[in-house]
Amino acid sequence: MTITVSKEDYIKATAEAENESEPVISATLAHWLAVSRPAVAAALKRLQKDGMVRVKSDGRIQLTSRGREVAEQTIFRHHLIERMLSEIFGMPWYEIHEEAERLEHAVSPAFEKKLVEKLGENDICPHGNSLALRSPAERRKKGLCLLSEAEAGFPYRVASVYERDRKLLDFLEQEGMRPGTRLAIQARNYDGTISLTVENKLVRLGTPAAEKIWVVKVR
Ligand SMILES: [Zn+2]
Ligand SMILES: [Zn+2]
Repeated sequence: MTITVSKEDYIKATAEAENESEPVISATLAHWLAVSRPAVAAALKRLQKDGMVRVKSDGRIQLTSRGREVAEQTIFRHHLIERMLSEIFGMPWYEIHEEAERLEHAVSPAFEKKLVEKLGENDICPHGNSLALRSPAERRKKGLCLLSEAEAGFPYRVASVYERDRKLLDFLEQEGMRPGTRLAIQARNYDGTISLTVENKLVRLGTPAAEKIWVVKVR
């Protein structure tokens, strides 16, 4: 099956990479979207012509205000479809991201309106991500921190997880960690891993995974 990467995918990936505080260059987009560098170059040319992105002399890609608007609409629709899959169809939370990536292009404005009527304006997706909590700075302002930075011995709740990595989501599901799960750090180990209690189970987690999970202290 060939997956066509649309203009919206490029815009959304640019916005999301910016939010992960990654410098966005064409290699970032090639990696995120799993497309070739020439394909990215051609897409960027079109997006510049449409006034969606600016490419600076050092190769950094930035969304224009119009590009940002399109990105926010696309992300809102993505979260809405994830909620539909989860809340209406009961699809497991770790499977819905890829499904939503495919479906979001097929949703008409009329159907989107119906979905908003049915599910409400709430923009928090089943991975805990929302437009209001996009950048690390915005998350920290709301009291969230990365699991890798959490204090040992205190109870935390999983607030959100990085949803573009299916292997990570499958792993978290297997360990019983999903948005809303309570956990506490028991120890930071010499090998860089963290020992946690997740509900009542002991889990050992490496830093790469702990840096993809946002948690909030339970008071
Ligand atoms: Zn998603
Ligand atoms: Zn999501």
